[in-house]
Amino acid sequence: MNELVVIGCSSGMPSGVKSNSAFLFRTEWGVFLVDCGEGTSASMRRLRIDFDRLQTVFITHAHPDHCAGLPILIQMMFLAKRKNPLDIYLPRELIAPIRVFMDGTYIFKEKMGFKFNFIPLKPNPAFRKGNFSLSIYPSRHLYNYTRLIKKHGYKNRMEAYIFSLNLKGKKIVYSGDLANFQDVESLIDDADLLIIEGMHIDLKSLWKGVVQKRVKRVMLTHLPDLPPSRLERIKSQAERHGVKKLILAEDGLRIRI
Ligand SMILES: [Zn+2]
Repeated sequence: MNELVVIGCSSGMPSGVKSNSAFLFRTEWGVFLVDCGEGTSASMRRLRIDFDRLQTVFITHAHPDHCAGLPILIQMMFLAKRKNPLDIYLPRELIAPIRVFMDGTYIFKEKMGFKFNFIPLKPNPAFRKGNFSLSIYPSRHLYNYTRLIKKHGYKNRMEAYIFSLNLKGKKIVYSGDLANFQDVESLIDDADLLIIEGMHIDLKSLWKGVVQKRVKRVMLTHLPDLPPSRLERIKSQAERHGVKKLILAEDGLRIRI
């Protein structure tokens, strides 16, 4: 049985009840973690996830609510005496800074007792194992830094990706963070599941888009802590637009895929 476990679904603002972005895919072909925001390891412990079985991590972009959980994930595995290697696919621009951070915080690769490999994400597909594959598509999420980066001479390349997962013919699209809904629109035709962030997009465009593109299930994530009445309004708005199956993400939620 293939299963998705929501490890963290908070917005960028840390929440008392939710961790930052992290989604675990348990499949016949391995256990994969998509994004690893702050709080991922604590949430995995709380949810009693057997993290020793985790083989591969994929990171969409370098914002800390999507990658800051990596050092503690490695530390947790070290303390648990992991032996299996861990592959971490991530934007190329993040590899050097994270290596420096790991060394600076004494997470020396020679000391950990297991190999962790940083691998830059490459297109077509970025990863394949058995009947599981993951393809990457660019998102314009970080483009609003263009002027600041130029002005101050930063080296950042504004890499942000959308992941399209294929699980034995089932199409699952994970938006990561977007500039707007148009970033992901052309990728979601007949998707079985769309996991989409709700912070940077216009929800009405989302509802129209998913109906038009015949998306079977939509999971809305990356929302701040909202009162139940606001969540109810989001649900009824989606229903009014003809969205048949909307799932509001919450930490610990498990769904079959
Ligand atoms: Zn972001």
